[in-house]
Amino acid sequence: MDPPGGPSGWGSKAGPIVEGETRMRICCAADLHGHLPEVPECDLLLLGGDLVPLDAHAPAKGRAWLDTTFRSWLEAIPAGTTIVGVAGNHDFVFQEGRATFADPLRWTYLQDSGTSHRGLSIWGTPWQPRFFDWAFNLDEDDLAAKWALIPEATDVLLLHGPPYGHGDPTPRGPAGSPGLLRRIEAVRPRLVVAGHIHSGYGVYTIGPTTLANCSLLDEDYRFRNRPILIELSDEGIAADFGPL
Ligand SMILES: [Zn+2]
Repeated sequence: MDPPGGPSGWGSKAGPIVEGETRMRICCAADLHGHLPEVPECDLLLLGGDLVPLDAHAPAKGRAWLDTTFRSWLEAIPAGTTIVGVAGNHDFVFQEGRATFADPLRWTYLQDSGTSHRGLSIWGTPWQPRFFDWAFNLDEDDLAAKWALIPEATDVLLLHGPPYGHGDPTPRGPAGSPGLLRRIEAVRPRLVVAGHIHSGYGVYTIGPTTLANCSLLDEDYRFRNRPILIELSDEGIAADFGPL
């Protein structure tokens, strides 16, 4: 499915921003692999996993990077921005439960759990279909139990892996979970944020739901794409995205 908006401006669903209207600006980024982007002014920053650098897959190394470089980056983001994140298949440090710190990081980490921000209910889950033996991999039958945990009243769904057929192209065909697609169609969140399949960067629609695959890197792990900016308002959703 083609992205509804062009790569260089607000999507076709962008309505005029009416003064005084309830609106929220959400910045979405996934597949950082250690590249920490400049964060545009936003109310909410959503991080869709694969955070640690490629040379920090070992949990001890991942933990050290989170506690230093990542911590400083989070703390440099303006205080008015709320930060929420999930892990990805490269983030073994989270799978091993070794990403807790005496001085907590300045974010809300979700793993089959939820939070809320200005009335929006947000659910986060890191799981994806099995591909060799990466972190948070499960077979499709076992993923069903994770997708069943997604509450009916979810406004924003923060994932690492995209659902089947949307932002998930690979040379072997769509790589996303069919069960996840069915759950999204049932829950109908306003916004789904994912990454994982780097070549799927863009904005898609699933019925009333907007899906942002916000992978920052390309297939060769080169930092190529801007974080996707979502403007959520009473008028609907507009997206701004494209190459760096
Ligand atoms: Zn990745």
